[in-house]
Amino acid sequence: MIPPQASLHTGRLILTPEDPLQAADEATIVPALKALGLLGPARPVADGQAFSAGNALGEVIGFTGCAVQFAAPHQGAESAGPWIRIPSTARQPRLLFGRNTRPPRCPACAAPLRDWRGQLPPSAPMEAQPPGCDATLPLQCGTCGAGAPAYRWRWGRHAGAGCSLVSVEEVFPGEAAPLPALLTALAGLGAGPWGYFFVQD
Ligand SMILES: [Zn+2]
Repeated sequence: MIPPQASLHTGRLILTPEDPLQAADEATIVPALKALGLLGPARPVADGQAFSAGNALGEVIGFTGCAVQFAAPHQGAESAGPWIRIPSTARQPRLLFGRNTRPPRCPACAAPLRDWRGQLPPSAPMEAQPPGCDATLPLQCGTCGAGAPAYRWRWGRHAGAGCSLVSVEEVFPGEAAPLPALLTALAGLGAGPWGYFFVQD
C-alpha cells in the first residue's frame, strides 16, 4: 500500500559552470551567495552545506510558476519554502539527472540517444557524496557511432554536469531562472560563466 504522504519530488534548479571541467570551491561560493542575500540560516545536511533562502531570493531568482511557496518571515529555518544546497565540490564533473531528463543529443551528429539510461549507472541522490554519477563515463551514439564523455552531450535544461553545484530545492522545472545579479556574482568566482538546469528525482 502506498503511504498517504508519498509524493513525487517537486524538482530543483541546479546552477553550475557552463564548462563542466571548471570548478569553484564551496568556500568561495558560500560567502559570495551570502553577500548577495541568497542564503539565510544554515540547515543541517549530510554533505556540503545548506541554507534556508535569504531575503534576496526573489531578487536573484525569477519565479514564473505558482508552485513555489515562500516562507513567512516569522517562520523558522525549517519552514516550508525554497532552500539552497551547496554540495562539496567534486574533483571530476558529476552528471545529475532525474525522471524529467530527456535523451541527450550527440556532440557529433546531434541525434538523440534514447538508451542513454542503459549506458549509465544510476544517479546517486543529492544527499550522497558526491551526488549524481561520473560525467566522464562515455556514451555511445546509436546513430553515428561516436563515443564521448557524458558531460559533452547536450542535455538541454533536463540534466547537466559540473564539479561545483548550487541547488535551489523544491522548484518545479522551468518555473525559476537565475536573474542577472546571481549570474554576475557566479561568473566572478573564477570558473567562467554559469548556466542552469532542472532535475526531478
Ligand atoms: Zn552521433
